[in-house]
Amino acid sequence: MPRDRFGREIDYLRFSVIDHCNLRCVYCMPLRGLSFVPSPELLTAEEIETVARAGVAVGFRKFRLTGGEPTLRPEIVEITRRIASVPGVEDLAMTTNAILLPRLAKPLREAGLRRLNIHLDTLHPERLKKLMRFATLEEIEAGIAAAEEAGLVPIKINCTVTRDYNDMDVVDLARRAKQGDWHVRFIELMPLGGGETAHVALSQFVPSAETRQRIEAELGPLEELPRASPSDEARNYRFAGSQGVIGFISPVSEPYCGSCNRMRLTADGKFHLCLLNDDELDVKQALRSGGGEAAVGAILLRAVGLKPTGHRLDEGVSTRARSMFQIGG
Ligand code: SAM
Repeated sequence: MPRDRFGREIDYLRFSVIDHCNLRCVYCMPLRGLSFVPSPELLTAEEIETVARAGVAVGFRKFRLTGGEPTLRPEIVEITRRIASVPGVEDLAMTTNAILLPRLAKPLREAGLRRLNIHLDTLHPERLKKLMRFATLEEIEAGIAAAEEAGLVPIKINCTVTRDYNDMDVVDLARRAKQGDWHVRFIELMPLGGGETAHVALSQFVPSAETRQRIEAELGPLEELPRASPSDEARNYRFAGSQGVIGFISPVSEPYCGSCNRMRLTADGKFHLCLLNDDELDVKQALRSGGGEAAVGAILLRAVGLKPTGHRLDEGVSTRARSMFQIGG
């Protein structure tokens, strides 16, 4: 397993397969002024497979497809099949807003996808429209139902908590983990990209402690669960006697950089070394000038070696060159 210079074991590679999205969440994508990676500059399905093979060869075991919105990539089923069929891939998951899952859940499952994280910020239809902008609650619920029917379970629901937009709705989502078997994760906003969305992330920030307090005041005490793995970024809880799980992901108020096991590949072929820093290493050039698995593996190991200790949000440093939709969440 590759180790970085701080002794962290890095074995989780997240592929952003496209930077387009069918939503415009207020903290992620502005309505105007966007530019996207032109199609010829996206890594092809074959190139992505080469990176996955190289990843496995140097010790990566867990893989995730994300974006933008990964289901918008026309070759998403082929990409899934290619990665899932690489010997040594132990886990292949996807982060999605679920809108296209009624059409894609079954083919993705058949292609080898194992698990899904579905982005749903609120169960309140009007507030969802204000926060996620182009989505409706019915569309996302239909996607969740399709995923369940296709056997892509257990699903984790990701809710990014944004003051005045959905912080008042966290209790309703948490109730699904008290009364049912939902696994809901509440995520703190991070300022990326330096523009309008970073401003929202800073001004509408809600610390996880406040979200937790709100949930417990309404639904009763949460009991902490043991960490699923040392690199699990969520602190997980359960209501006594309930099946569901509530997770808090707190990169700002309780950074977990010390147990980070991630490397990210952007849609335009750069290893992005830490979500909240700008450092990147290009891999597309090597792929397009005849470099195969061995060349990519060497770049990947260099990327691991150069991974920053962690973020420096408290010093005002963050990713400025890219926003979340350009890196992959
Ligand atoms: N389109 C997919 C989705 O909606 O899940 C995958 C990409 S999206 C960038 C992944 C996750 O990042 C979503 O849960 C979204 O809420 C979260 N996200 C986007 N911008 C964020 C920010 N500034 N801070 C924290 N989370 C953010």
